[in-house]
Amino acid sequence: MTTVPARREPPQFREVGVVRTEARSPHMVRITLGGPSLDGFDGGLPAASVRVLLPKDGDELVVPEWNGNEFLLEDGSRPIIRTLTPLRFEPGPLELEVEVVLHGAGPLSTWAAAAEAGDRVAVSGTGRGYEIDPDARAYLVAGDESALPAIDVLLRALPAEAEVQVLVEVRQPDARVELPAHAGATVEWFELEPDARPGDALVAAVTGARLDPDVRVWAAGEAAAVHRIRRYLFTDQGLPRSRAVVRGYWKHGRNADTDGDAE
Ligand SMILES: Cc1cc2nc3c(=O)[nH]c(=O)nc-3n(C[C@H](O)[C@H](O)[C@H](O)COP(=O)(O)OP(=O)(O)OC[C@H]3O[C@@H](n4cnc5c(N)ncnc54)[C@H](O)[C@@H]3O)c2cc1C
Repeated sequence: MTTVPARREPPQFREVGVVRTEARSPHMVRITLGGPSLDGFDGGLPAASVRVLLPKDGDELVVPEWNGNEFLLEDGSRPIIRTLTPLRFEPGPLELEVEVVLHGAGPLSTWAAAAEAGDRVAVSGTGRGYEIDPDARAYLVAGDESALPAIDVLLRALPAEAEVQVLVEVRQPDARVELPAHAGATVEWFELEPDARPGDALVAAVTGARLDPDVRVWAAGEAAAVHRIRRYLFTDQGLPRSRAVVRGYWKHGRNADTDGDAE
């Protein structure tokens, strides 16, 4: 007999509606979600995660049941659940902002590109975020477009006295977005060459950066690319693992249904 190990049930789904949308660039949309069910929602630590349940095949939103191992819909099929970064949570109006990369394929990207006020989704969260060491004075923050919301939150949260080197990979120059001001931050944008693998420009930027001996690193992006960044930091540079958080946010050529989080 096969026993399926029980997993801890994620936080409940809260049904919300789209309040408004705003194009941040031709490749990124900011979506404000709201509704009374966000009462008691915890925005979490910086660069935390929130799971978003989408309607299936354009149908009405159905909230799935937790079977002890995974969420399933009544017909036994898997719901469409994707992971985003809570950009800002405002408890007053009960509004949660998220930003979605319009990369073209995939239910989340497709939904976000057409999202309108009143559309229904559900959110569950938040998941683990980044614990800032208030005494650290040098940070390297690196990511691709999917990491821009997390980088935005980090820039608002990192100590004002810290030096923060921000490296971002974009696929086109017009994917750049305005990031919050931080007194000690420098932001550099790197464009991906047309034939390059996603993350190539980010990996080159990180491996070419000067690392302060006491640096703290936060990096996120395509899974294979961040794997190369991990190897560079921990194996080649001998950076203690406790000083870096490096997360896979998506997998090139695979959808998040088959792979869950791309860690
Ligand atoms: C902790 C965490 C936080 C995240 N925060 C954000 C966020 O704030 N905003 C955001 O947009 N994404 C974020 N992501 C990434 C997002 O969850 C994935 O990109 C997700 O796969 C998108 O779902 P989809 O339905 O659009 O595409 P899927 O159905 O998952 O994939 C379809 C195809 O699109 C490709 N693809 C998926 N994502 C991208 C991408 N970003 N660029 C290019 N190709 C892609 C896949 O390789 C696949 O071929 C986060 C992920 C994690 C784990």
